[in-house]
Amino acid sequence: MRFSKSLIPTLKENPAEAEVSSHRLLLRAGFIRKLTAGIYTYLPLGLAAVRKVENIVREEMNRAGAQEILMPMVQPADLWHETGRYEKYGPELLRFVDRHERESCLGPTHEEVITDLLRREVRSYRDLPQNLYQIQTKFRDEIRPRFGLMRGREFIMKDAYSFDVDDRSAEESYQRMFDAYMRIFSRCGLDFRPVEADSGTIGGSFSHEFMVLADTGEDTLVICSSCDYAANSEKAAVMAVTEDPSPMLDLEKIETPGKRKVPVVCEFLGIEAQELVKTMVFSAAGEPVAVLVRGDREVQDVKLKNLLGVADVEMLGDKDVFDATGVPTGYLGPIGLKIKLVVDNEVAAMKNFVTGANEKNYHCRNVNMGRDFEASAVADLRQITDTDPCPSCGEKLVMREGIEVGHVFKLGTGYSEAMHAVFQDSDGQDKPMVMGCYGIGVSRIVAAAIEQNHDENGMVFPLPIAPMQVILLNLGVKDVQITEASELLYKELLEKGVDVLLDDRDERPGSKFKDADLLGIPLRLTLGKSFSKNGLVELRHRSNGATEELLPHQVTERVLKIINLAATK
Ligand code: ATP
Ligand code: MG
Repeated sequence: MRFSKSLIPTLKENPAEAEVSSHRLLLRAGFIRKLTAGIYTYLPLGLAAVRKVENIVREEMNRAGAQEILMPMVQPADLWHETGRYEKYGPELLRFVDRHERESCLGPTHEEVITDLLRREVRSYRDLPQNLYQIQTKFRDEIRPRFGLMRGREFIMKDAYSFDVDDRSAEESYQRMFDAYMRIFSRCGLDFRPVEADSGTIGGSFSHEFMVLADTGEDTLVICSSCDYAANSEKAAVMAVTEDPSPMLDLEKIETPGKRKVPVVCEFLGIEAQELVKTMVFSAAGEPVAVLVRGDREVQDVKLKNLLGVADVEMLGDKDVFDATGVPTGYLGPIGLKIKLVVDNEVAAMKNFVTGANEKNYHCRNVNMGRDFEASAVADLRQITDTDPCPSCGEKLVMREGIEVGHVFKLGTGYSEAMHAVFQDSDGQDKPMVMGCYGIGVSRIVAAAIEQNHDENGMVFPLPIAPMQVILLNLGVKDVQITEASELLYKELLEKGVDVLLDDRDERPGSKFKDADLLGIPLRLTLGKSFSKNGLVELRHRSNGATEELLPHQVTERVLKIINLAATK
């Protein structure tokens, strides 16, 4: 590829709209351009990086025995009605009506379509197992598309679906995909962790996410410093605490004029936040639900959602809380509360705590569950912190931020039962196929790799997914000798299958070096002064700045060696 003939519109300035490094650098390096919110065009280098990821994904999926197909992006609503997801999926599902008044949607995921295919084509246990995948554009009308390729509305996903005769065989399929994912993300050159995850709206019995560790991840992970436990903090179980054996003291109502916030109430009463219990009100499928957690804790939305069995929960604002309870926020408490009440298990083990009195300007002291109020459920509802012990071994936890690049789910028979996707087993009985589904955010991987690998000068691509492996700088486009040698080297590298970008533009060396750094191409070859003087080519590694001087005939072999080394790491 010749720089002079390519569309690589690099920018000198940082684009104002970009909040995170990958978004800023993808725009600055001319990899992507925005069409509209969350929707991007991939320019030549952006697409080249995406294709590199795709190829690794494809090779490993094929190696694991999955078969590539390509499903439609437009899906009939009827299929989604069968599973009940047309209503449940929420506004991320873009729905529309075609000219024949048929309801349709753009595929955010393909469980319905693939299950429909398999129920038509699979008859007997002999036709199973099946594992099918595609690499395709998905559409999700994300509420907050942001961070460029990280959270788009339109994005490229690899999605695979497995169909087995029974649980045991489905678990083998799951394990095979898990192993393939480990290979994929290692081959991409990423620092990542598989973590235990919540299964979300897709549903299913267990799942793992693959997280790229980065400073700007949207997910929080807890990783044990001692054992191999790692989980998304949404899912990480907090260990139950032992009950406080203190005797219950007499309930007291105390005046707390104008004291609403936890620290203010604590200061006024001379207590610690650990002695107070907060009453938070959420809307769950339109119903108000109060949640009790200790004063210094946060409610974990996903745990609450799972407990209540709803797709979403939302914390209510002051006015809605007042409408639902008749109490101004700041004075809410469990005693005599008129709405559904669920309690974090830490609170259930506490004695003699402080809560609001459900009356303006009053709190209660020595409140006790069981004596003063009842809960409709007690469960692990709070966000884990790094002061909590590891749920697996009790040792210290470390919190890290992560970017979810892959997700594997064991689905079970939820979809196959809803859509009547059955096969005839060896005993002649009809049974539902046991399913699994496995996603990889192909375009998100490119962004995640940049979040993890960049410096103040630009991107620093891991070699296996770099759009180009080599950038060859001709610093003397008007110098016959340099130009001839550059062209020769360019041809030689291309013949050996190296992806090389020849910077043959008539630009100053300084700006060529700057662009080379910005593009993050792992190996830079320079033919300039040193070549004219001593006949030497400089090879520089983008990742660590190390340089080597080589004779032209040594270059290709050296480059191939570095590329092969990176591929087998
Ligand atoms: P998230 O929690 O980030 O919204 P998800 O749980 O909705 O992700 P899945 O349905 O499991 O994601 O999709 C599979 C993969 O697709 C994810 O692991 C992620 O890498 C990628 N992905 C999901 N949503 C987006 C998006 N809006 N933009 C880019 N990639 C995405
Ligand atoms: Mg999502």
